[in-house]
Amino acid sequence: MNENRDRLRIAVQKSGRLSDQSLDLLRRAGLVFRSSRDRLFLYGENMPVDVLLVRDDDIPGLLVEGSCELGIVGRNVLDEQRLAGADAPAPAELQALGFGSCRLAIAVPDNGLIKNVTDLAGLRIATSYPALLAEWLRKQSIDAEVVLLNGSVEIAPRLGKAHAICDLVSSGATLAANQLHELVTVMRSEAVLASSPRAQNAATAAQIERLCARIGGAQSGDG
Ligand code: ATP
Ligand code: ZN
Repeated sequence: MNENRDRLRIAVQKSGRLSDQSLDLLRRAGLVFRSSRDRLFLYGENMPVDVLLVRDDDIPGLLVEGSCELGIVGRNVLDEQRLAGADAPAPAELQALGFGSCRLAIAVPDNGLIKNVTDLAGLRIATSYPALLAEWLRKQSIDAEVVLLNGSVEIAPRLGKAHAICDLVSSGATLAANQLHELVTVMRSEAVLASSPRAQNAATAAQIERLCARIGGAQSGDG
C-alpha cells in the first residue's frame, strides 16, 4: 500500500450501470460507510477500507498507479486498457461478480449487405474498444479498419463513418432502434473485482485478502 495510508481503497463507478450493484455488494460484504461532503469518497466506518467514486474508465489507471488497491469495473474496460498498454503492468481480474453482464459484439446494418464475418474485410468498423476489436480481428485474420468513436457508436453507419460497429450489447434494443443487428460476439463481459499490479507489503496483502474473501462470500450468497 501507499506508505502514507493505512487504509485500503476500492474504486467503484460513481454513477452508471455498475454503481448501485457495486455498492450493494460492498454492503453485503459487511462494509458500513458514510459519504464525504463532496460525494467522491465513502469512508468505511467499521473497517479500514474507503471507497473512491470515479468514472469507470479511470479505474484501471488508479490501480496501476497504486491510488487504489482494488476496483470494481467491467471486464471490457479492464481488458481494453491492458491490451492498449502493451506490456505495462496491468491490474489482475481477481473474480467475476455476476452483474453488469453484456457482450462486446460486432453489429451490422439490417440492409443485409454484410452477411458473414469474412464480409468485414476491407470495411471500417467503429468502436470505443479499439484494442479489443483489433486483437479479435487479428486472431480471425480479418483485415478491417478500426475507427475510434467515444460515443454514439451506433449511429456511425447511418452517418457514413463506418460500415459496421463493435459495441456493448445487453438486450439488443439499442441496435434494433438503429436498424442494426449482431453479427458476432467479440467478448463476454461482466463486472469484475480487479487488483493493483503493485507489490503490497504483507500487512496490506493480508487486508486485501480478507476483503476479497468477504466480497466472495457476499457474492456466493446472492442466491
Ligand atoms: P462513466 O461515466 O463511469 O464513464 P460509462 O458511460 O462509461 O460511465 P456505463 O454505461 O455506466 O459506463 O457502463 C458501465 C459498464 O456497464 C460497461 O463498461 C459494461 O461493463 C457494463 N454494461 C452492461 N450492460 C451494458 C450495456 N448494454 N451497454 C453498455 N455497458 C454495459
Ligand atoms: Zn466510462
